[in-house]
Amino acid sequence: MSPNGGGTRQVVAVDLGGTWLKCALVDETGSVSRSRRIATPTDGRESVLEATSTAIREAADAAGGVSAVDAVGIGSPGMIDGDGYLHDAAVNIAGWADFSIAGELERRLGRRVVALNDANAAAMGELRFGAGRGTRDLALVSVGTGIGVGIVIEGRPHAGRGGGAGELGHLVIDPGGRLCACGNRGCIEAYASASGMRSLVRELADGFDERASDLARAARSGASDIEAEHIYTQLRNGDPLAAAVNETVCDTLARAAAALALTVAPERIVFAGGIMGSADLIIPLVRERFGRFVLPHVAASVEFVVAELSSDAGLVGAAAAAFAV
Ligand SMILES: [Zn+2]
Repeated sequence: MSPNGGGTRQVVAVDLGGTWLKCALVDETGSVSRSRRIATPTDGRESVLEATSTAIREAADAAGGVSAVDAVGIGSPGMIDGDGYLHDAAVNIAGWADFSIAGELERRLGRRVVALNDANAAAMGELRFGAGRGTRDLALVSVGTGIGVGIVIEGRPHAGRGGGAGELGHLVIDPGGRLCACGNRGCIEAYASASGMRSLVRELADGFDERASDLARAARSGASDIEAEHIYTQLRNGDPLAAAVNETVCDTLARAAAALALTVAPERIVFAGGIMGSADLIIPLVRERFGRFVLPHVAASVEFVVAELSSDAGLVGAAAAAFAV
């Protein structure tokens, strides 16, 4: 029986990002209500905590108040450990560094709060409500500005010591290779992220005839706003430079998948991010490369799927984590 007296359990979920703070009431079927979005305060930790707890109280009001919901879940950027403590800084949120997110919110709300990294939240959301249904061990690889990796082991998010699990985007696959945003060279993120792809286009453009490649022509004319999705539009048009970039991206994602398969052995790897709108051009090639990097029995043991949750993924994922405690 739920504390609210009804048969349906409800939690309040928060998806905290550098730009927006989203909050909603989520039930155990993943249905979202009382959803609202406010601009994330930019003047420091106290303001963000205050805005977050106010949003949580308002969402909970519809269920009879904070004491009537089962729990509160919050997904946030940054390295967050299993106790909800943020290690180091989440660079996109002012003052969001080295403190217990769960502890601070619990103190304000008087309710159990589960805080976890946003990639782990996305993985939990897919496990409970999306492409990971029916599994217990899952990894999620999200291709965006960077590479986010979420890991779920036996139905629970795996944060690791200091929240450091899943920092796979900075695994070096090419020593001395392309410069990564972290300052190191040859990281996965330097090849397979949206920013990595943009640099790859510029780097490889010289090897392609502009008469055969619109993408090469755009890169040489200095276009700096080549979106990752645009590369895939051009790939569908038969652009050879787009094909070369996709080869590198898929090879890199296959290395990430191999690292995951050989360390955590997930049943499924869920691929997420804007470019997965072109998953038909990506997943088969990742699968083929993956088969070169691992033994056949390992290759056969992992399913590759595309994320199913879309705009509410962060909220639904934070809710899934709150339901899992
Ligand atoms: Zn790096």
